[in-house]
Formats: sequence, structure tokens, C-alpha cells
Amino acid sequence: MTTRTTIFALSSAPGRAAVAVFRVSGPDAGGVLDALVSPRPKPRTAAFRRVRAPGETEPFDEALVLWLPGPKTETGEDMAELQLHGGRAVAEAATSALIAAGAVPARPGAFARRAFEAGKLDLTQAEAIADLVDAETEGQRRQAMRQMQGGLGATYDRWRAALLDVIARVEVVIDFPDEGDVADAAGRGLATETVALLDRLAAEMDAHVADARRGERVRDGFQVAILGAPNVGKSSLLNRLARRDAAIVADAPGTTRDVIEVHLGLAGQLVVLADTAGLAEAGRSPGDAIEAEGVRRALARAETADLRLGVVDAGRPETASALAGRLRGGDLVLINKTDSAAPAAAESMIHKQAQGFHVEPPIEVLAGSAATGAGLESLEAALAARVAALAGTAEAPPLTRARHRLAVERAREALARARPRLGDAAELAAEDLRLAARALGEITGRVDVEEILDRVFAGFCIGK
Ligand code: GDP
Repeated sequence: MTTRTTIFALSSAPGRAAVAVFRVSGPDAGGVLDALVSPRPKPRTAAFRRVRAPGETEPFDEALVLWLPGPKTETGEDMAELQLHGGRAVAEAATSALIAAGAVPARPGAFARRAFEAGKLDLTQAEAIADLVDAETEGQRRQAMRQMQGGLGATYDRWRAALLDVIARVEVVIDFPDEGDVADAAGRGLATETVALLDRLAAEMDAHVADARRGERVRDGFQVAILGAPNVGKSSLLNRLARRDAAIVADAPGTTRDVIEVHLGLAGQLVVLADTAGLAEAGRSPGDAIEAEGVRRALARAETADLRLGVVDAGRPETASALAGRLRGGDLVLINKTDSAAPAAAESMIHKQAQGFHVEPPIEVLAGSAATGAGLESLEAALAARVAALAGTAEAPPLTRARHRLAVERAREALARARPRLGDAAELAAEDLRLAARALGEITGRVDVEEILDRVFAGFCIGK
């Protein structure tokens, strides 16, 4: 391994601000600090200092300075922090001065990576820091905070430790194949205790991945698709809910050919609301190829969404037929344009759509007007209640990234392969169990996985 560099970064947001925080980490952090300020402050005590470039007499700014000798620091290395004034010229002067003092600009995620390498964090905790910084909603913040405290990583580590234990037992059988008594006794032990342990682990993994992707939804947003016949007011509704003109509202049917998304905060969660192209009513086919493509995308989006919001025109009850067979239990329907027509006829049409509406939990039908805003508060409340139900209140920390899910699934598959082999193909079973343990280790970073580290930390911003 090459000798470690001493890195620095502007850790606060760039641009004008009251304060700009520069952090320095590495074996020469103390030397770098000495080149800029004098004397070096007492460890872990904030001190006011004039800051100058190496060899210069005139200071370029004044700062609150911290000297944090390792290993009890975030990165485990010696660290220094300069709280300068938050101007662009100050930041540039500080950058030049730090480089002149021998520090190198940090790459994205470099501080978190050093913390991981020093064993201060596991990978799920490092990812949680990135999520916490990116969190826009209360739900995202809470989830990231829990993960940062280590709950998720602890689950994977516990599973991995249990697997290593099983592997050790299986290897007893492999290592003493000729000593009949030992092998038989161990074999019998395997057939009961170990199998039971593996089955328990498998069940826990199944429950962990069968979480309706809650954690990923909280992190990435709950997908809600608005769908319905052309001109029922889908775009108007999206704009109302988003409180801005995100979608084009027009009298001509078929205006929204692609999918338009807005981000909303509902029930403390991020909701990605998508407006889609109008779906043809029963007995009508889309006008042209472009419209047909729009419909195809609308249906694909509706299919993968967490929740569908069907829209029907109160004045054209037949528009309910466009929703037939496309809604699922728990979805919502808005009978729109109640300012110009009574909802009763549309409502009875909706209930006549036998296919797709007789589902559990039932589909909730509300009435309102995207034009006047009437009834939309109830719609928002209903949406929020559905999102809150989808987000759930999981006791165990949920997996939050596809990376975790894929690894748990790989581990689970390896367990399934290993189980029938325990009896007469112990060596193969042990190999599968090792693969399973490795997959779990990749999630927390307990194995040497350079390519995974690069991927995880590349998503960070500089200075973290
Ligand atoms: P989309 O094709 O389903 O997206 O429908 P738009 O949102 O583009 O609306 C189609 C037409 O219906 C436009 O002229 C809107 O102004 C009108 N519209 C939408 N919502 C309402 C409503 O609640 N009441 C009335 N009277 N007109 C509406």
C-alpha cells in the first residue's frame, strides 16, 4: 500500500455563506495546520487564529481552528478543521494555501471511506451518512439516522456470524471423513441443530426481503401514477397537488404523451407523483403511434407504481371504463370536475366496472375538482394515509438499497443450495455457505471488495 496522503475538502456547501468549513485528514494534518496557523491549538479545543498561506506574512482570513489528533477522530487519522468566512475568494485562498502546505483535494466520499477503512463505520453506516445528507423528508431522515446508528449492519453481521458458525460445524465432517464415529456424530448433529439454524436464518432473510421494498421506497420515494382517459383532468390534478404548473393542461386530448413527475412530501415521506398519457376508454383505440407509445408507457408506469390514482370525469361517466382492470386493492379514484357535473352517475359507473374493482383492500372513491380545488384536501389526506400505510412502522431496520437486496437474495439462494447438500455433499454445502457469508459480508464491507467500495463511495459528495 502506498503511503497515505493528507486530504482536505471544503465540507460545507460552496458559495457565499457565514462560514466555510475546511477539513483536513491524514498523517500530516498537524503539519499542514502548522503551515497555516500558529500556534497549533490545544487538541479538541476551538481557538481563534489568523490564517495565512505558507511563507506569506499577511493572513487571508481569520478562523476558528480545531486540531483533532487521531485515532479518536471520524477518520481515525489526525484531523484539523478550519471554520473560515464563507466567501468564494476565501475558499479559493484556503484551497491554494492547503495545497501549498502539502494537502491534496479529497475525492468524493474520501473522508467516509477513510472512516470505513479505520473500522469506524460499516458500509451500511457510510451509506446512511450519504442518505442523511440527501434526506428531504422526515421519513428519509429517520430511516437514514437508524441505519447510521448501525441497526441494519448489525443484522447482516449477526447472520454472517451464524453462517460462519455453521461452516465451522460442516467442516468438522469434511475434515474427519474417515473417522466414522466423529463424522457420524457430527453428521447427525448437522441434520438436526444445523439444519434448524439454517432454516431460521433463511426465514429471517425471506422476511427481510419480503418487505414490499419499504426501505427503498422511503429512500427513493413512493411511486404514485395518475391514470385515466384523455381529458379527464389528470394534468390539472397533478398541477394542483404539486402547487405549480408542471404538466401542460390543454383542451385537446392526448397532450401528456410522456410521463411527467413531481416530487411531493406527504405523511413525512417523499412521493413521486407521475402524470401519464390518457388511456383509451373501452371500445376506442389510440389515435396514432405516438399516442399508442404514450399509453404503453402509462400502463408500464401504472404497473410498477406503489399506488394508482385513477381519474374519471364526472360529466363523462363512461371515462371510468378506461380504468377497468388497471387498479389494485388500496388504489384511489377521483371523480373530477364535480364543479360542472354531479358525481353520482360516474360513481355508479365506477362500481359497474366489475373487473379490477372488487378487490381487497377496497378502492377508495372520492369526488372533487382539480379546477376549483374542492375535495382535494380529502384526496391528499387519503393519499397520505395510503403512503403512511405503505411506509409502515417496521420494527427491524429495513434494507434501503438494491445493493443490499441483491446481496441478501444471493445469500438466500446459496443457503437454499446448501441445505440439501448438508447430508451427503458436505464439501459443496460448505462452499455454498461460504458464498452466502461472503454475500452478506459485502453489504457491510466485511470482505475485501475494492470494486464495491468504489461504487459505494463514488455516490458521496466531496468533503464527506
Ligand atoms: P388530462 O388530459 O386528463 O391530463 O386533462 P387536463 O388536465 O389536460 O384537462 C383537460 C380539460 O379539462 C382542461 O380544459 C381542463 O381545464 C379541464 N379540467 C380539468 N379539471 C377540471 C375540473 O375539475 N373542472 C372543470 N370544469 N374542468 C376541468
